[in-house]
Amino acid sequence: MHFVKAKGILSSQNGMNLYRGCSHGCIYCDSRSRCYHMEHAFEDIEVKENAIELLEHALKHKRKKCMIGTGAMTDPYIPLELKLEHMKKALTLIYEYGFGVTLHTKSDRVLRDLDLLRRINEKTKCVIQMTLTTYDEKLCRKIEPNVSTTGERVAALKRLRDAGIPTVVWLSPILPFINDTQENIEGVLELCEEAGVYGVINFGMGLTLREGNREYFYKQLDRLFPSLKEKYIKTYGTDKSGGGKIVGGSRIVQSRAVGRSQPGHGALRGKDCCRV
Ligand code: SF4
Repeated sequence: MHFVKAKGILSSQNGMNLYRGCSHGCIYCDSRSRCYHMEHAFEDIEVKENAIELLEHALKHKRKKCMIGTGAMTDPYIPLELKLEHMKKALTLIYEYGFGVTLHTKSDRVLRDLDLLRRINEKTKCVIQMTLTTYDEKLCRKIEPNVSTTGERVAALKRLRDAGIPTVVWLSPILPFINDTQENIEGVLELCEEAGVYGVINFGMGLTLREGNREYFYKQLDRLFPSLKEKYIKTYGTDKSGGGKIVGGSRIVQSRAVGRSQPGHGALRGKDCCRV
């Protein structure tokens, strides 16, 4: 972990990232891509030490209330958050200044802030977005090693639902030859139904294979799925231009609960959330 003084905290679309880098270890994470110009090791989390002051200043001076989004580049509930509580402080400000919030996570640590999220939702609006990629707990541990398993995430979704907070699931990325079976997709959709989620978002395959992302992903394939890298290279090539490929197109099924699409960390996303 290292600290920096940031110049700003909210993007033009009212998104924010309190941290840069992530320790959750998802093998497909697009936030590793070089195009985001991260100048430190991905696991060496950059903490914006003045994030909370910047956020308070921004909220105080906003003319119109809106939804504040977070979780585009980094999971806001990385283990470090338990110690630093930046997310909790940010949510407290969002509540006090009467804004809404939508956050994207793969961690059931979000439940630490359940009461605060419920109060925001009662006062304005809160939508929690969670990624589910597989219903198979063993596969989940392989591809998303350091974060809550699918079962734990579904249990968190149910707690959020019971607290009256709308939830949305990102069924993304779909990794060719890994979690792209009909059985898996149906299994995840059944879990979504069971947890009473408001919507399911799919970004096509959502694997970018951009420079930085691609090397890490292929290294993990070698470690976890022997001979699969060769199949990927044969099928999708080894584009070194940095442009990468969007495997399987980029169809977006947008949720009514989120309204404007809030990009998810790790898979495919828009431009706005990259740098703040
Ligand atoms: S996909 Fe999200 S949770 Fe996973 S490592 Fe990347 S930023 Fe972290």
